[in-house]
Amino acid sequence: MPTALETLYELQSIDLRFLEKKREIQRFEADLDKRKRALAACNARLEELTNTRKQLVAERALIERSVNDQREQLNARRSRLTRVRTEKELRAGEWEVKASTEEIEAEEEKLLDFMARVEEIEGQIETVRKELADLQEADHLQVKEASERIDALKKELEAERGERDALAGAVDDRVRRQYDMVLSRRGGLAVVLVNGGSCGGCHMTVPPQTLNEILETGAVRVCPSCQRILYVKPASE
Ligand SMILES: [Zn+2]
Repeated sequence: MPTALETLYELQSIDLRFLEKKREIQRFEADLDKRKRALAACNARLEELTNTRKQLVAERALIERSVNDQREQLNARRSRLTRVRTEKELRAGEWEVKASTEEIEAEEEKLLDFMARVEEIEGQIETVRKELADLQEADHLQVKEASERIDALKKELEAERGERDALAGAVDDRVRRQYDMVLSRRGGLAVVLVNGGSCGGCHMTVPPQTLNEILETGAVRVCPSCQRILYVKPASE
């Protein structure tokens, strides 16, 4: 029949394994979550760029149409110029041609600017598409692996839970409450081995009287310095 301390020590080794597995699950889940968010961000960026491109292309088409219209108008004005009869008509016609030419130049500049912007956006779209493809390829390989590992770890935890609960049930309620409290305060190490008269948690010397009490009666005693439960292996071990 194991003593309360031995049971507690065994319980702790299971709890530490549980903790390790739970942390591993959290790491995998955080990684999956990060991937999902990166993918969503990439898709959102692609959509935004695609919309911007669509808008720019529509505006570019409008300017192109306007340039064509103005060129036609310019041609009409030029041919009218060949048919003027008075000096006044000539001057007015020349002024119209000059105005048309300036307008076209300004529009063409705008057109060039839009063409450059469309080109820039298309470059960005290409980059994001590549990023997306890379992410999806990595996902294909790693998401499956991570999901399988998470499932396996959860199954392991489920399988070991019976053993853990049986051990926990065998420990006196008061002692277990103390164990749970120290465990949560001390980040997963509530029961420590005494090595050469020192606490295995904080390395402070444990009073010899406390050591004797533990060895003789199997009593639950805590380290006066760090409050962890002290476990002393019998000399025969
Ligand atoms: Zn200690």
